[in-house]
Amino acid sequence: MNKAEKAQFVVDTLEDLYPETPIPLDHSDSFTLLIAVLMSAQTTDLKVNQVTPTLFERAGNPTEMAALDPEEIRHIIREVGLAPTKSKAIQKLSQILLDKHDGHVPQTFEELEALPGVGHKTASVVMSQAFGVPAFPVDTHIHRLLYRWGLTNGKNVTQTEKDAKRIFPKALWNKLHLQIIFFGREYCKARNHRREECPICSVIGRKTNFR
Ligand code: SF4
Repeated sequence: MNKAEKAQFVVDTLEDLYPETPIPLDHSDSFTLLIAVLMSAQTTDLKVNQVTPTLFERAGNPTEMAALDPEEIRHIIREVGLAPTKSKAIQKLSQILLDKHDGHVPQTFEELEALPGVGHKTASVVMSQAFGVPAFPVDTHIHRLLYRWGLTNGKNVTQTEKDAKRIFPKALWNKLHLQIIFFGREYCKARNHRREECPICSVIGRKTNFR
């Protein structure tokens, strides 16, 4: 198969496996999604979903969040990795939303990435999942899988994002990145799994570098 055929095979297989793509992080608007995505770095979505109800009940908008002491935020999110750094970023970011953006989450990559604790991947998730703007957030699963499927050279996440955007139609980006994440979580967990049993690698996977 050439790259275009491989890409089509991935799209078709993932559409069969995951026709629905609910957003994994619980949220009620763009602000709560932004905070949840910021918190999800280096931890699981499950862990984030366990702490956000308490946090958002205490402060569910930028005004209430900016008024909290970072120490109180840290206490509420203490189960989440890097809580000291994230709690400071959450409070500061909320204040910036009030000062510079009328209390709204900005809708450009540039403005989002200028916020504390928000990198390109976080901004991409927010643009995609809060505002429906086509984006392709690349996490470790996506980076690894696109390499294993021979769709990128595995150099770095920036290259993987470029390749993903070139290979897959723009209209599919927002759904596809979630489908690949769901696939990675379901299939790439087992250490001694058999490549022949994987619905994608068994057909298009590279022969080397498998667990
Ligand atoms: S063969 Fe293994 S690593 Fe490759 S996609 Fe399937 S489950 Fe994941």
